[in-house]
Amino acid sequence: MINNSLLNRRVLILNQNYQPISVASAKRAIVLMFKDKIEVLENYSDIIHSPTIAMSLPSVIKLNSFVSFKRKNIVLSRRNILKRDDYICQYCGTHSIPMTIDHIIPKRNGGKDTWENLTTACIKCNLKKGSRTPKESKMPLTRKPIKPTVITFFQKFVKKYQDTWRPYLFMDPIEIN
Ligand SMILES: [Zn+2]
Repeated sequence: MINNSLLNRRVLILNQNYQPISVASAKRAIVLMFKDKIEVLENYSDIIHSPTIAMSLPSVIKLNSFVSFKRKNIVLSRRNILKRDDYICQYCGTHSIPMTIDHIIPKRNGGKDTWENLTTACIKCNLKKGSRTPKESKMPLTRKPIKPTVITFFQKFVKKYQDTWRPYLFMDPIEIN
């Protein structure tokens, strides 16, 4: 029997021009492979066995033909701010819930509702900071808040098994042979 957890392992899908476009299950990738629609660029070290076949589990695949699509902007929302910040307080690094959204430059100082001015803060830090800037409150941010892209979203899938994804998501330089 094929191990189902392997078939659910995530696979990074690149467009024909190497642009990352999606993350799918290995099962989906294998179907595309048998339909001759993709090229396998990287494999996991795992082998999948069925009664008739044994094959490497794909990790990064590239479509054989170019798919044109429009990149959607990631909507600025409370949920997406929390997701961007991995639900971690950007002032003290705690993971304790519930989390709040803090205006880095307070609204009354002209702080806007933007990706760059909103951050995840635990209740304790939010209360401590009050309506002061990080400088005034001496509470520097651990990370610079940025507007996420679909690439930063895919980067979040990179865990210990996904080292081979890193060059394709601009996290490591691509080796040129
Ligand atoms: Zn905190």
